Amino acid sequence: MKIGIFGGTFNPVHFGHLRAAEEVAQTFLNKVVFIPTNITSNKKMPEINPEKRMEMINIAIKNHKKFEASDIEIKRGGFSYSYDTIVQLEKIYPLDELYFIAGMDTYFDMRNWKNAGEIFDKINFIVVNRSNKKSDLKNLIKLIDFLPDKLKEGIRIDYAENRLITDKNRFIYFFKITRLDISSTDIRNNFKNNISNLFLLPNEVINYIINNKLY
Ligand code: ATP
Ligand code: MG
Repeated sequence: MKIGIFGGTFNPVHFGHLRAAEEVAQTFLNKVVFIPTNITSNKKMPEINPEKRMEMINIAIKNHKKFEASDIEIKRGGFSYSYDTIVQLEKIYPLDELYFIAGMDTYFDMRNWKNAGEIFDKINFIVVNRSNKKSDLKNLIKLIDFLPDKLKEGIRIDYAENRLITDKNRFIYFFKITRLDISSTDIRNNFKNNISNLFLLPNEVINYIINNKLY
């Protein structure tokens, strides 16, 4: 099976995440596992506890055949490093192919992550564009700039499949999705300022946020 790993703070999950997962799943994957962080290492401490962020994901993906949520980062506790998660997932899914789904902003930052080089050796990537034009990629070569240095030399460019291939034969796809200019930050600000969030995230999630007075 081809399994997508979709990590994030999901504070809260929104249609930008859900549509990205849908389009990636449609083209590449048998399933997508949403994994909310326990504590996001490169952000200031999220205001909403991980169980509630997880609950919002569960509400949003309920009844979707290809979508699942995993609490492995929550159970592990502490700061959530994707490297640790990938090591754990390799044991859970020894026979499957794992793909890490990342928005362009995440990909740009990845070489600074814990064990970044090892992450790229272990798992394939599907990098998707985010909202602004800056994250549209004119040439795959640009993706190479943001790789950890040790990977740059052995990298090959596969224009036909729109992907890079590493010396360990892992793939880094660039995949263009419907651009939805939605972010959790904007949604949290809207809640704070009493501005409507209708059609930015599922109604059931909006209701959960209101009932639990989250933002
Ligand atoms: P925040 O504003 O709090 O950072 P966010 O909307 O960026 O929230 P995250 O939880 O940080 O959401 O993102 C999780 C993953 O989803 C990241 O890889 C990010 O790039 C991707 N992502 C978030 N929003 C979108 C979107 N609108 N379109 C495509 N990918 C997205
Ligand atoms: Mg973000």
